[in-house]
Amino acid sequence: MQSKDYEIIIGLEVHAQLATRSKMFCRCEVDVDAAPNTKVCPICLGLPGILPQTNDQAIKLGIRAALALGCSVNLESRWARKHYFSPDLPKGYQITQYEHPLATGGALELPGMDKKVRIRRLHLEEDAGKLVHSSRETLVDFNRCGVPLAEIVTEPDISSVEEADTYLKELRLVLRSLGVSDAEMERGHFRCEPNISVRPRGQEKLGVRSEIKNLNSFKAVREGIERAVKDQIEWLEQGEKIVQTTYLWDEKLRELKPMRAKETAADYRYFPEPDLPPLILAGSEIAEIKSTLPDLPAVKRKKLIEAGLSEQDAAVLVAEPEWEEYFKGLLVEASASIKEASTWLLNEARGIMAERKETLAEFKVPVKELASLIKLLRDGKLTRPAAKDLLAAMADKGRGAAELMEELDLGSVSDEGLLEETARKVIEENPDVVDRYHKGKTGVLGFLVGQCMKKLRGKADPNAVREILLKSLQESK
Ligand SMILES: [Zn+2]
Repeated sequence: MQSKDYEIIIGLEVHAQLATRSKMFCRCEVDVDAAPNTKVCPICLGLPGILPQTNDQAIKLGIRAALALGCSVNLESRWARKHYFSPDLPKGYQITQYEHPLATGGALELPGMDKKVRIRRLHLEEDAGKLVHSSRETLVDFNRCGVPLAEIVTEPDISSVEEADTYLKELRLVLRSLGVSDAEMERGHFRCEPNISVRPRGQEKLGVRSEIKNLNSFKAVREGIERAVKDQIEWLEQGEKIVQTTYLWDEKLRELKPMRAKETAADYRYFPEPDLPPLILAGSEIAEIKSTLPDLPAVKRKKLIEAGLSEQDAAVLVAEPEWEEYFKGLLVEASASIKEASTWLLNEARGIMAERKETLAEFKVPVKELASLIKLLRDGKLTRPAAKDLLAAMADKGRGAAELMEELDLGSVSDEGLLEETARKVIEENPDVVDRYHKGKTGVLGFLVGQCMKKLRGKADPNAVREILLKSLQESK
């Protein structure tokens, strides 16, 4: 693939399930794990004579997301019916926002990439049900019908798979950190539909788009886009005409399966939803929601980096709330410095977890115990290498720091008498070195400290050893 000769243009649509307790237009509980077809009512089943009512909480969450993405929230937006046939859409149409969306014109900065992706619009809509396939039959579960979604559409500003991946990860993080959506991809709460076109570099006219429906993992998005780009370049090079097509991604075969020639807006026969009034918002309402927005991930990362963390460590903490919580716990419980907490959590403990293939939730060392390890080290009761051994043992056995330090005899020798005796012995055994020291070659002190540490089997605070040695050397003059 000579993609350097071609320009890749990608736009992304994301459907994020809003974290409400009830559905968008009825009071049915949102619980997609419930037994099939138990969370339904005439409204979400689209029975005749029903009257939908909007869910205020869903609207608030939509506004929250829009504001965080820098969109302007429209004081008036409207509901429309989008018609299409699908066995999981009993109404035969979906209530969405079409010409008058909730919000327009935002942007999301891609971390570490010095690039902004413009957001064209964010609108609210309802989800359809779910088809459940087995080898013999296809069943339909309507529990998901009417579950509130925010659809977030970018401008075609994305020009590589990496940018698409970064955009999605950052968007997901923003939605999660706002409490707008749990955005769990494997549960289908954060679904992505990329549209991809390729054109020879320098050509002004846009290429023909391929769209991929409902991708449910970062991996599927990456592979689907890569495949679409590869196919399009091949067609261009062979002089084939590209037809605008909507595809499904076959994860097993890693192939795009044409689903249908892309329908145009006209095919959906959009028209204003007659049962719902326009959504009118007050400026004060929007301002109030804005005042409750927490620090966004980009701001949090910046603050952590300013406090002394590396870019990578800051990214880990901000991406994973449980890591951030653990980290903050260390700062409080051990009065640890940023440096101590990052060394012990993000380097040492993380390394052990990687080795043991554990997540933080599975890691057997609670904050309190890692904090006591840091304190033991700080108080000179443990040496650094011993602390590392102790942490590995704690992760293995799930026992407390102090208790295990004693049991494994990892504690430092702090008995001054023993330290003095050791220093005296080392001085006796190394008269030449001591002589050189007294003649001004103070650099040999390191060697003598090393000898003492060896005799103490590494179990002493090197600073304490150094001090006692200096004193003994003074006396031996
Ligand atoms: Zn319902």
